[in-house]
Amino acid sequence: MDYVIAESGTTTVSDLLAKLGDETEGLKAVWVSYPTACFVTPDHFGDEIEVSAESTLRTYGTDDCMASALRTIVDELRMATECTCTFGHEGGYQISVILADACTKRGKPTDVALLRDLAPVMASQAICGEGKAIGRAVTQALDLFGSEIEPHFAKRQCPTFGCDAFKTYHILVSKCTGCGACLKACDDGAILGKAKFVHVIDQRKCTQCGLCREACPEGAVVRAGAKKPKTPPKPIPVKRK
Ligand code: SF4
Ligand code: SF4
Repeated sequence: MDYVIAESGTTTVSDLLAKLGDETEGLKAVWVSYPTACFVTPDHFGDEIEVSAESTLRTYGTDDCMASALRTIVDELRMATECTCTFGHEGGYQISVILADACTKRGKPTDVALLRDLAPVMASQAICGEGKAIGRAVTQALDLFGSEIEPHFAKRQCPTFGCDAFKTYHILVSKCTGCGACLKACDDGAILGKAKFVHVIDQRKCTQCGLCREACPEGAVVRAGAKKPKTPPKPIPVKRK
C-alpha cells in the first residue's frame, strides 16, 4: 500500500503509520521514497527519520517479495531522473535488468556479486540523487532481505511466491465442468482432460502464461503461491452438478 506522507521534517515510521491510519502489525518493512529512499524494518519503526512532503511510504506484508519490491523501486528511481552519467544511467540499467531476470526465473548465481559490486559504486559515484539512492537501496535490500532475494539467483526460487512468474496455475475440482475451453487455449499442451472430466494442469509443461485462466468461463483456474489447492494427478469425472 502506498501513502503520501504530506509533511516534512523529523518523524518515525510508527508515527507516520498511526497518522495514515495503518497498523504496524503484520508488516515486514516499509519503503520511504526519495529523497529519504530507505527501507525501514519493524525493529526500527521507532527510529527518527527525515521525510519530505513529496515522499511516499510503501508498506510490505509477509507475503510480499522483496526482490520484486526492489525491482519496482529501482525502476521508479530510474524513471524519475534524467541523468545520463555512466553510474546513474548505465548502472541503473544494469541493475534493473538483473532484477527483472531474478523476478522472471532467469537469475544467475553470479548476479548477486554483480549487484554487491555495482551498488556501492553507484551510491558514491552517480551524479544524480536518484542514482545514488538506487545504489543505497540495493545494498540495503541485500543486507536486510538477502535470505529472500538471493534464492531468486542461486536457485531460481521466490520464497514468498510474490513474483508472478513463480506462481503456479491449478484447476479447482469443485468448479470445473469439463468444458475443454482451457485445453483449447493452452498453447503449451500443459492441460490434460476430456469432455465431462475435471481438467488437470501438468506443472512440468506449464509456462504460467495465464491463458487458461482467461478462457475458463467458470473461474475454475486459480493462481497460487506457497499454498496450493489440492488437485487430482490426472483427469477425473466431473463432480459438479
Ligand atoms: S497457464 Fe498457460 S501454459 Fe499453463 S496451463 Fe494455463 S494456458 Fe497452459
Ligand atoms: S477449467 Fe474451466 S475451461 Fe477448463 S474444462 Fe474446467 S470449466 Fe472448462
